[in-house]
Formats: sequence, C-alpha cells, structure tokens
Amino acid sequence: MKKSFAVIGLGRFGGSVTRNLIESGQEVLAIDSTEERVNEYMNIATHAVVANAQDENTLRSLGIRNFDTVVVAIGEDIQASILTTLMVKEMGVANVWAKAQNDYHARVLEKIGADRVVHPERDMGKRIAHRLVARNLLDY
Ligand code: ATP
Repeated sequence: MKKSFAVIGLGRFGGSVTRNLIESGQEVLAIDSTEERVNEYMNIATHAVVANAQDENTLRSLGIRNFDTVVVAIGEDIQASILTTLMVKEMGVANVWAKAQNDYHARVLEKIGADRVVHPERDMGKRIAHRLVARNLLDY
C-alpha cells in the first residue's frame, strides 16, 4: 500500500529524501520556508509549499497529522527542528524521522518522541568506513 510522506526542509538531505521517495513511486508533500527551495521542487514533489513549519496553525492547515511519515530535515536552525518535531509528534503522526545536527540535538529529538533520529554525515561516514574495511579484508 502507498504511504504518504511529508518532508520538511529541502536542503541537500531533505531534497535527496524527496527525490528518492518520488523515484520509488511515493507521494510526497515537500515543505520549506524559502520560496526559492520550494520552486526547485514544484515539478518534482507531488505538492510543494512555502510554509514555516514552526507555526502550529500552518502545520494544522497542511493536515500534517494525516501523513503516515514526516521527515523533519531542518538542520542548522535547531530550535525550528525541535519545535517542528515536537508539534508533529503531538499532532499524532506515527512515524517521525528527524535529522540531527549534533549529539545534543539528537538526544533532545529522541526525548521529545522522534521515532528515528538520523545524522546523515556521521551515518554515511560509518557506512563508508565499514565498506572500506570490508574491501580491505577482501583484498588480502
Ligand atoms: P543540508 O545539509 O541538508 O543541506 P542543513 O543542515 O544545511 O541542510 P538547513 O539549510 O539549515 O539545513 O535547513 C534545510 C532547509 O530547511 C532549508 O532549505 C531551510 O530553508 C529549511 N527550513 C529551515 N527552517 C524552516 C522552518 N521553520 N520551516 C520550514 N523550513 C525550514
């Protein structure tokens, strides 16, 4: 069954998540507070809207609670990331993934109920190191 996704924050990470979900045939609502970013995704995402996700009424009017999964991909603005994750969880979204900027940010996101916290750079570094080691072992 097709699930519905919303991606909040269309930086490199959120943008890549959006593109890949669409390529996998999923429906994605793409949200960013910057018009320029949203314009980039107008023809890629199922819907793309300019909105400040920190605003509770905005999240309500977007019907965020009806999505199966919400990805909070706001990075630098840690306060916006935390408030958005908190509100999305409080609205009852079952599956909320959030991007963390550092370990303290990750701990807060976990405490307020994020279902999965990702650190793209750290996670990718770990995967690459494992692959490099595995390749080295194969070479010997
Ligand atoms: P990346 O590494 O993925 O490029 P980043 O860590 O640099 O991302 P930011 O650029 O801070 O993260 O945020 C990603 C996006 O989130 C930006 O396009 C920004 O406009 C958007 N954003 C920031 N705050 C909000 C908000 N309150 N509501 C909606 N979008 C927001």
